[in-house]
Amino acid sequence: MRKRVVIIGGGIAGLSAGIYSVMNGFETEIIEMHSIAGGQCTAWDRKGYRFDYCLHWLVGTSKGAFHEIWKETNVINNETEIIDHEVHSRILDNDGNEFIIYSNIDRWEKYLMDIAPEDKAAIQKMCTEMRKSALLEPFSLAPELRSPLDYIKILPKMLPVMNVVRKFGRLTCQEYFDKLNLKNERIKSVFFSLYGNRDFSALAFIFMLGWFNQKNAGYIKGGSYPLAQRMVEKFVKLGGKLSYGKKVEKVIVENNVTKGVLLSDGTSVPADYVISAADGYSTIFKMLESKYISKEIDFAYKNWELFTPIVQVSFGVKKDIPSQFPIIINISKDMIIGKTKLENGYSVMNYSYDSTMAPEGKTTIVLRYDSPWKLWENMEAEEYKAEKKQIQKDATACLDKIYPGISEFIEVIDVATPKTDVKYTGVKDGAYEGFMPSKDNMMKSLKMQLPKLQNFYMAGQWLFPGGGLPPSAQTGKWTIQLICKKEKQKFSSTM
Ligand SMILES: Cc1cc2nc3c(=O)[nH]c(=O)nc-3n(C[C@H](O)[C@H](O)[C@H](O)COP(=O)(O)OP(=O)(O)OC[C@H]3O[C@@H](n4cnc5c(N)ncnc54)[C@H](O)[C@@H]3O)c2cc1C
Repeated sequence: MRKRVVIIGGGIAGLSAGIYSVMNGFETEIIEMHSIAGGQCTAWDRKGYRFDYCLHWLVGTSKGAFHEIWKETNVINNETEIIDHEVHSRILDNDGNEFIIYSNIDRWEKYLMDIAPEDKAAIQKMCTEMRKSALLEPFSLAPELRSPLDYIKILPKMLPVMNVVRKFGRLTCQEYFDKLNLKNERIKSVFFSLYGNRDFSALAFIFMLGWFNQKNAGYIKGGSYPLAQRMVEKFVKLGGKLSYGKKVEKVIVENNVTKGVLLSDGTSVPADYVISAADGYSTIFKMLESKYISKEIDFAYKNWELFTPIVQVSFGVKKDIPSQFPIIINISKDMIIGKTKLENGYSVMNYSYDSTMAPEGKTTIVLRYDSPWKLWENMEAEEYKAEKKQIQKDATACLDKIYPGISEFIEVIDVATPKTDVKYTGVKDGAYEGFMPSKDNMMKSLKMQLPKLQNFYMAGQWLFPGGGLPPSAQTGKWTIQLICKKEKQKFSSTM
């Protein structure tokens, strides 16, 4: 009899766990409450336009342990086309002044030094630290399975990056910028507007730009939906079962041993192992009724800040609008869209670099801004409808500032709110990437197993502050490594 693995949630973590589970010979079922798989990694079509919700950069597009996962799970295959943008983003301030973040650190360093020769030493220091982060190598083995030798082996290679972690691991961006002692007001104001006014981790900032520099964080043509579908294809082809439109209410546990899951329609689904790749809060506090909580979990869910949810306004524009900038961020102060005062400005993504996103001669453009959950949680019916209407109007005006005259070419507008995300994925308070990476949690993670509970594992973005596709897929893989260990069988990543 093959052992049976049931996975709650068909997002990237659930699909990854599913693929490795079938690869290792387990009878596997993924139970997904939505009518499509992908979770946060999704997109939707409106009148020929595709509106993408997730993918901008995927760490691991060219090398390393994440790259292996993307190949093993069919996210990257011989047909996938990877686009490495020259420009990371273009920033615009109150007065329309432009500031560019280049993906290539040498180019960006030169650009910064041209703007601020007085900050030459600080700029060089920052860029050197970003280059060092290229040495960061994710592990392919789950933490529980690593031996001291595994750590010793990577130590010499990782030493420079460990130094960066030691020096800045406990700093916010603001503290890091202060430490750099930048003098140039323009650079200071852009950096502060982007990352300074929240508790955002300095390391996250340094690593992010480091990954772009190595061309190991590209965009995959087609975006989020086909990415998730390629995983679905692989899972189903290998013999996995994906059940849509079924919501798990409870994890069935007898004497601290997991026995299966109970669906909202009252059906129970038996299992030898259950992996939850669904929202972390719902899993621990609802499906498991708060019965299996470690000190770390208790602390994290009480104290770690969540990502502020976003509103996404997607535009179908009946005109070709080429752009060399994949993202334009407007950091002007005191702007309002609908009921939201924009603390962090708004960003505009012109998808002209991906021909699959709009019919020929037309362009898909997406505008996003942070909007706190408290504004949305109790908004119902008429108020919600009116708010969406106002957002359409205000967001169009914002877009018109960046592309003057564009409004007359807009033929589709679609507004997705934090409530939309919660409705389709159950994500806690619309926190689409889980816990915000801060100075207190950046190098921390939560365990895949819960105290005293047997045959149950967690996977997904809620285990690593900062979330993202790579840790989601990685923890999916790790859960199967742990199950294989328990079953005393060798883990395989092929079939
Ligand atoms: C706007 C945006 C931009 C992003 N950009 C990037 C990017 O450029 N690069 C990057 O790496 N990451 C990015 N991310 C983050 C990335 O999408 C997520 O971190 C990742 O997809 C999370 O995957 P997951 O499988 O852990 O969780 P989820 O995607 O949340 O999946 C959970 C799944 O479980 C299902 N589910 C929940 N409850 C139940 C239940 N009770 N029963 C059955 N099913 C259930 C949900 O429907 C969902 O399908 C972005 C996210 C967003 C929203």
